[in-house]
Amino acid sequence: MAAGRLTDTYGGYRSRLVEELRRNGIRDLAVLRAFGETPRHLFVPEALCRQAYEDTSLPIGRGQTISQPTTQAHYMQALALQGRERVLEIGTGSGYQAALLSLVVQQVVSVERVPELAERAREALEKAEVTAVMVVVGDGTLGWAPESPYDAILVAAASPTVPEPLKRQLAEGGRLILPLEASSVPPEARGTQPKAGRQVLVRVTRHGDKFYAEALRDAQFVPLIGRHGFAPEEA
Ligand code: SAH
Repeated sequence: MAAGRLTDTYGGYRSRLVEELRRNGIRDLAVLRAFGETPRHLFVPEALCRQAYEDTSLPIGRGQTISQPTTQAHYMQALALQGRERVLEIGTGSGYQAALLSLVVQQVVSVERVPELAERAREALEKAEVTAVMVVVGDGTLGWAPESPYDAILVAAASPTVPEPLKRQLAEGGRLILPLEASSVPPEARGTQPKAGRQVLVRVTRHGDKFYAEALRDAQFVPLIGRHGFAPEEA
C-alpha cells in the first residue's frame, strides 16, 4: 500500500477523517499520513461501508469492535514511533490498527484469540496490499516470544493488570500501552481516585529491569481474555 496507489472513491472521506483527527489533537505527521492512506472500508463489515470513515467504533462480529479512529491515533501518537521499530499488537480485531502501524514502522506482529477474526483480518490486509503484518492466533497475554523483543507493544483490549510476559518481551527503552481497569493503575501514575469499572490508558516504559507507568487518558475497550487477563466467564 503506497501513496497514490489507492484508486477507490473514498479519498475525500479519508481526508475529512484526517482533519477530524487533527482537530482532536493528533499532531504526529506519520500517524496522520497512515490514516490518510489506509482503506478503513475494507476492514469493516460490508453493510457498514458507508460509515467506515466516521470517527466512531463499529461492530466487526463475534461481539468485538473496530476502535474509534481518534482513540487509535492517540494510541499510536503516545508510542512516539520513529519508523524503524518492531511492534507487537495484541487484539488484531479487524486488522485496521495493524494496517495503520505497518505504514509507520518496519514490522508488525499482531495476535488475535478468535481464529475467525484473525482469518478475516488476514483477508482484509491482503486486499489492502499490506505486507509488513504477521497475524497469529493465540493468547496475546502471553505475547509472541518468537519475534521478541519489541520496541513497542500496543494492547487493544482492557486488562486487570499488565501481563508479565509482555513486560519481558519489551526491548530496552520500549513502550507498552494498554487500557487497565482503573483500580489496578498504580496510585503514583493515577492522579485522581478512579471510579469503579473505569478504564485508564497506561503507558509503561522499560529501563533495564525497571518499568515506569504513566496514566494517559480514560479508555473504553472490550476485555482482554487470557491467562494474564480476564477469565472468559468474568468478561
Ligand atoms: N485493533 C483492533 C480492535 C481490537 S478489539 C482493530 O483495529 O480492529 C479487541 C480484540 O482483542 C478483539 O478482536 C478480541 O477478540 C481480542 N482479544 C481479546 N483478548 C485477547 C487475547 N488474550 N489475545 C489476543 N486477542 C485478544
